[in-house]
Amino acid sequence: MVGPSLKTPFGLGQTKPRHYLEMARVAWRNRDEAGYAWRILRDGVCDGCALGTSGLRDWTLDGVHLCMVRLDLLRLNTMPALDPAVLADAGALTARGSTELRALGRLAHPMVRRAGEPGFRRVGWPEAVDLAASRLAEVRERDPTRAAFFLTSRGIPNETYYVAQKAARFLGTPHVDTAARLCHAASTIALRRALGVGAATNSYRDWLDAELIVFFGSNVPNNQPVTIKYLHFARRRGTEIAVVNPYREPGLDRYWVPSVASSALFGTDLAEHWYAVDTGGDLAFLNGTMKALLDLPDGVARDFVERSTEGFADVEAALRDTSWEAIEQSSGVPRAEMERFAGLLCSRPKTILVWSMGLTQHRHGVDTVLALANLGLMRGLPGKAGAGLVPIRGHSGVQGGAEVGCAPESDTETLDRWADAWGFEPPRGPGLAATGQIEAAAAAAIDAWWIVGGNFLETAPEPERQKRALHRPALRIHQDVVLNTAMLVEPSDTVLLLPATTRYEIPGGVTETTTERRIVFSPSIRHDGAESRTLDECRPEWEVLCEVVSRARPDPPGVLGFGSTGAIRTEIAATVPRYAGIENLKRKGDQFQWGGPQLFEDGRFATPSGRARFHAVEPPADREPLDGELFLSTRRGRQFNSMVHAVRDPLTGLERSDLLMNAEDGRARGIRAGQRVAVSSPVSRVEFVARFGPIKAGNVEAHWPECMELLPWSLDPDSGEPEYGVRVRVERTEADA
Ligand code: SF4
Repeated sequence: MVGPSLKTPFGLGQTKPRHYLEMARVAWRNRDEAGYAWRILRDGVCDGCALGTSGLRDWTLDGVHLCMVRLDLLRLNTMPALDPAVLADAGALTARGSTELRALGRLAHPMVRRAGEPGFRRVGWPEAVDLAASRLAEVRERDPTRAAFFLTSRGIPNETYYVAQKAARFLGTPHVDTAARLCHAASTIALRRALGVGAATNSYRDWLDAELIVFFGSNVPNNQPVTIKYLHFARRRGTEIAVVNPYREPGLDRYWVPSVASSALFGTDLAEHWYAVDTGGDLAFLNGTMKALLDLPDGVARDFVERSTEGFADVEAALRDTSWEAIEQSSGVPRAEMERFAGLLCSRPKTILVWSMGLTQHRHGVDTVLALANLGLMRGLPGKAGAGLVPIRGHSGVQGGAEVGCAPESDTETLDRWADAWGFEPPRGPGLAATGQIEAAAAAAIDAWWIVGGNFLETAPEPERQKRALHRPALRIHQDVVLNTAMLVEPSDTVLLLPATTRYEIPGGVTETTTERRIVFSPSIRHDGAESRTLDECRPEWEVLCEVVSRARPDPPGVLGFGSTGAIRTEIAATVPRYAGIENLKRKGDQFQWGGPQLFEDGRFATPSGRARFHAVEPPADREPLDGELFLSTRRGRQFNSMVHAVRDPLTGLERSDLLMNAEDGRARGIRAGQRVAVSSPVSRVEFVARFGPIKAGNVEAHWPECMELLPWSLDPDSGEPEYGVRVRVERTEADA
């Protein structure tokens, strides 16, 4: 337990966000489109994280729902077009980072660049569509599985995901995936195996009724800031908060909720229970907690386990066979701490387990989430009011993408249903996940790569591999709202840039699915008296996908003949059973929650047997740092995905170039705070500035994408999700030695 934090009005003198000042800056940045910006906030569904809003409201609490993540992203929706002439010299642009490229303005004209040309030239839509369609037709003729589609998550609505996966399959390739592969693929796979459904089991409203909320590898004040408002009110009702993480995240210690006067003035104390686990040690920590629960009188929810689950005996036997020494070594946590956590869980049966990338972005990410699901089942959490499992989503599009089929694997029942409804036979073989697409493209096994949003150079490990992957396909298409560094990678043959609309510019409106499984309608936002903003030649991604792929494969005609987003929703309702009802979403505020507020209330799960499934899992054997090594993991600062919005993180005080480390590790290496240090991994060396903080000794953290080149290419064999951590050596640089 920790004592209450020091309280000064408005957190004066403390490291904290200056919300009101930052809001004023946002208003200034968007002043040329102030009315439009206001209407986006008032009427649109937030295009930031997947907490979900309708305008400035949500379904959990009364009052305003707004945060700096949304405000930072606002300019993407209001900025003017860039001058296409700047793209004539791509070489000159490569010296700029993505933040500078983004600031140039919206991509607003189709552009093409051929091998050997210094940059892009503007083309009309007819030429762009002809080029893309004819090249895709050639690939289809030779081997359609040499085409691949990747969609990232920011702002992309369900309608675009659905159309993209159908278009890919119509072309003849199963290679279609989303950015969820890089964040929560491990959660989706593990939860499907354990519960039959890859989604949160409860609603945010349950947070207000929970007795205990535990965050594993998650920094919600930074990535889903309005959750803190939920936590503020939950704390008032007696909820306790625990954190399992290598770093004592300052934002989970204390936060200032700007829309709650008392919190804005004096802050809200959040977590009371902290468990400092080694990076990647969560699986062992979870196993240790369960081992401790086995010996507590009410540690196991026996009735629930017997009635609604299977496989518990194997897990129990495996836990009893595992020594405490092994668990302590793999987790980095003393046995007494795991026993303390087990006791806390027993004393507060209405528990919600929330987790993020700290659990998933490892080679053993699926196994770690399976361990977490084991713990949830052992405690009987799924289906219980005020309790549950929540893989909290960082992007507004990331929950719905795979749910409407934008994933490389689909079961036979789904494919049969689609074949009937679509009038063509979709490819049956499993497709390539995003990371498999990268590997295939780098190995010259992809001829056409259609990339909607995203920037692998900054979001996936091993930038050199990413460059190779982006260079090699003969046709690479980037469909996006702004420029990024990946677009500038020289083509082996042809690169096409296709300007996209934002979600608020799509006529007919669109939908997104939130973390709590709520499908929400986001209307198009009026601009200059029109139904939606028209920025030069920007077009909705779905419309262009349909036009190009229909031209590449004309027969049977009409397969992709959607006339509107409403028509897409009607088809989703008919082909994705959970989404039945989406066809009725037409106006601001329209929404429904698939599965209802609580999944599995009746104790029946979505597995073939109707029972939830335990899985015996063990930590990997080869993670121990060698003598003198530390384990580095990536962290976010003031950024949304790879989009950096400020050099300094207002929650931690860390700058982008800082390496967060424990003072003890610093002292052992003769390093003082503020000194330059060299961080060496098996694949690269990067210099940072050492900053000491409350992070567990043996672990260091640095911001990504700045530290990405330190990461080797290492994937979870189960999910294809990359590991965003690596063993490193840290030394003073010679200049400071
Ligand atoms: S918490 Fe998430 S959904 Fe809510 S306003 Fe912020 S970014 Fe948007």
